[in-house]
Amino acid sequence: MQETPPNTAVRRVVIAGGGTAGWMAAAGISRTLGPMLDIVLVESDEIPTVGVGEATIPTLVTFHRALGLDEREFMAATQATFKLGIRFADWKARGEEYVHSFGTTGKDHWSAGFQHFWHRGRSRGLAGDYGDYCLELRAALEDRFAHLPENGLNYAFHMDAGLYARYLRRFSESHGVRRIEGRIAEVQADRASGNIEALVLASGERIEGDLFIDCTGFRGLLIEQALGVGYEDWSHWLLCDSAIAVQTASVGPAVPYTRSTAREAGWQWRIPLQHRVGNGIVYASRYIDDAQARETLLANLQGERLVEPRTIRFRPGQRERTWHGNCVALGLASGFLEPLESTSIHLIQRGIIRLLQLFPAAGIRQTDVDEYNRQSREEIESIRDFVILHYKVTDRDDTPFWRACREMQVPDSLAHRIALFADSGRVFREGFELFAENSWVQVMLGQGLVPRSHHPTADLMDDAELSRFLGQIRERVARTLAQLPAHETYVRGYCPAA
Ligand code: FAD
Repeated sequence: MQETPPNTAVRRVVIAGGGTAGWMAAAGISRTLGPMLDIVLVESDEIPTVGVGEATIPTLVTFHRALGLDEREFMAATQATFKLGIRFADWKARGEEYVHSFGTTGKDHWSAGFQHFWHRGRSRGLAGDYGDYCLELRAALEDRFAHLPENGLNYAFHMDAGLYARYLRRFSESHGVRRIEGRIAEVQADRASGNIEALVLASGERIEGDLFIDCTGFRGLLIEQALGVGYEDWSHWLLCDSAIAVQTASVGPAVPYTRSTAREAGWQWRIPLQHRVGNGIVYASRYIDDAQARETLLANLQGERLVEPRTIRFRPGQRERTWHGNCVALGLASGFLEPLESTSIHLIQRGIIRLLQLFPAAGIRQTDVDEYNRQSREEIESIRDFVILHYKVTDRDDTPFWRACREMQVPDSLAHRIALFADSGRVFREGFELFAENSWVQVMLGQGLVPRSHHPTADLMDDAELSRFLGQIRERVARTLAQLPAHETYVRGYCPAA
């Protein structure tokens, strides 16, 4: 337990940093509590943003609705496309693919998820691929998209991160956020209590606040450099610690999925936007050097290169506490797993919502701080396990990196999940967990983990009944799919270039 910070009412909120995290925080807080606060955002044109982070998950749609953003306007402003999932190639084994899609697969029974019925169907020769029963997955593979009534098609976006920050800046400023340009040269803080008094800019300007939000990226200028909360390193589970990013010109219609292709010591991404494609390789520097990674990336690009490749280092892990004293860290300042499964922007959003739910208007109470940290910790640990799953469960043993992944000890929480699914096909979503059962099932099956048995409820159906049940779902998916237009056609009609 930490010492309780001084109990002063919070009116002045200072956001340090204007990347995706800073401007999302400014937008969320100003839209919700703007009238009762004085919100300032400090960013420096001298210090660039990380410049990546272009694939999202469906929760961003909810965030935008909460802000009251116009989706067409957002898409035009950020050159966004729709995303229905991630297509994984060579992860289970070279030459094999699977999709982790949004939405649901098939139809659950209250006692047993759809995977049990599919498993029995498979063993009786009655079922197709697991993905045949998921509309989002089929639509992704057939390159189709449309909004459907009652959120009938779950989607997220691919977007230009730089344009997104600019778009949210306009939104935030129109909701009263004051932007100050300048380099933060000093953080005046009392390390023992975790209390920050002011930021001092290189110009000498002093910015005082009651609550400080650290969005300064990996450097964690406030939470780490000033307050020294400490960092929990997870690089023994998440071996990748480097990335090289590069943008290319589009060579064909933008597909509604992120492509993730496993490589010798990591993986490569491809994210199609309206105006270009984002690419990058993520790798473990203890297995290949930068030159090898760069060579692999450049050898596997399509389209003309638009910028020079840029190397980014990271340390997989999490701050010991993300709220300490009167400082809350969001985005890369709070920690980073790695880009697989595109969860970082989601975590920013969750941090903002959690802060708003626990907002210390009357003064910071340690109970709120502890609750914030407890929830954040639970959430990030389950995402960490989900990301590790992709590396641990694989048939690949063709390189030292993949052999190390297969052989590594994983967290007990994940080891239990894998064992439970392998035994019985059972998987349960818990607490503040992001990924629902269907995500776990898709990735476990996709990575090659086939359960040894299924729930007895599935055995109560005879072959004819089971065949009818599975067939009806597959037909419904196929019928809806046939009505969807091509993704690119839909995007062009939905948000004509601004
Ligand atoms: P930054 O973008 O680094 O911004 C830091 C800000 O702080 C800047 O505005 C800078 O000017 C300011 N600043 C720093 N120091 C000072 C100072 N002294 N004075 C004043 N201002 C200062 N996330 C996803 O959800 N999906 C993805 O597909 C995805 N892909 C990724 C790929 C890679 C290789 C990496 C590394 C990350 C990826 N992420 C992804 C994470 C995502 O990029 C970040 O979560 C997101 O960009 C937020 O970054 P940030 O705002 O925390 O930090």
